[in-house]
Amino acid sequence: MDAIQKIQVLGEAAQYDICASCGKSASRVRSSLGRWIYPAILPDGRNVLLLKVLMTNTCENDCFYCANRCSRDFPRLSFRPEELAELFMSLYHNRRVQGLFLSSAISRGSAATMEKMIKTAEILRLKHKFGGYIHLKILPGASFDYVQRAVELASRVSVNLEAPSKGRLLKITSSKDFENDLLLRMKWVKSLTSRKNFLPAGQTTQFVVGAADESDREILETTDYLYREVNLTRAYFSAFQPLKDTPLEEHPPTPLMREHRLYQADFLLRRYGFKFNEIVFDGRENLPLDMDPKMAWVLKHPQEFPVEINTADRNTLLRVPGIGPKSAMRIIKARAKNKFHTLDELKEVGVVVKRAAPFILINGRPQEKSTQIPLKIPSLV
Ligand code: SF4
Repeated sequence: MDAIQKIQVLGEAAQYDICASCGKSASRVRSSLGRWIYPAILPDGRNVLLLKVLMTNTCENDCFYCANRCSRDFPRLSFRPEELAELFMSLYHNRRVQGLFLSSAISRGSAATMEKMIKTAEILRLKHKFGGYIHLKILPGASFDYVQRAVELASRVSVNLEAPSKGRLLKITSSKDFENDLLLRMKWVKSLTSRKNFLPAGQTTQFVVGAADESDREILETTDYLYREVNLTRAYFSAFQPLKDTPLEEHPPTPLMREHRLYQADFLLRRYGFKFNEIVFDGRENLPLDMDPKMAWVLKHPQEFPVEINTADRNTLLRVPGIGPKSAMRIIKARAKNKFHTLDELKEVGVVVKRAAPFILINGRPQEKSTQIPLKIPSLV
């Protein structure tokens, strides 16, 4: 089988790994150029096309949710490091891709597979002098030496936690230990990057949402812990979808809206200055599906509104629906010269005035419907 035929299979198999997206699952966003090339937004804001591929789809493990689990019957393939590096460089020179996302199933132990992944990255960096974006997956149980080399070579690394705790992970795999195989590797990445100027795009993780019957509170509590304790750059959330011939094939799929709400809540933690204990959950410890998490907080805190646009500090502005980090910054910059007088002026700096109007004052004047803030919403706790 030639390299192009392999990439069709191993690129397709990489779809379950999320690499770089902004509030939506990259696993469902693909380039028209091929099922293995994905548009992605890099941490510096650049839009690039990534070759997303597995080193191998041969796996010795049997994770209950996974397409590549060893007990499924389908053709198994592997790249050789030289073969994959050459193929990538040819796609790169033809301007089909600008970066690489390399993940893998585990064949003959995580050491043997990590060695091939590292070797691929070494060929790209040292032989081909490729200086662009490389995202390397750290496989469960990878040794410290391999983690260190991955950190030295890659722009970003990731360890897929898949579930928010040891107990939840046990519900979806018997092959990985949450603390030792996964979390410890994330701590190593943190310690390696704090010593040297490695890994410009940091480390990330991914959760398979809903597979282990976990709640959104559990996922976000672990995410918040990872931001604080291992300098996680960001978390990705992938709504579980059952696959045929897996133990979870009868398990209900997770609604995509749940994944979307997790991304929104994650944004509140990372970009809007919210603390984990401010996130509003429903009676089942999940984010409400029928409103975004910021609105859920707003409706629980009517006493905080309306907010005066011409004097509120950045954190207060960020609590207003329709105002994000960019528009809050523009408001503060603009009002230093001239006060705001109208909603149209706010629209010009990027505020979604339809959402913001009920919650603001402009020069002491209430805007439309500002008296209609509900005092409470019964479904929230
Ligand atoms: S180790 Fe990875 S590839 Fe293998 S079955 Fe588990 S999730 Fe799938």
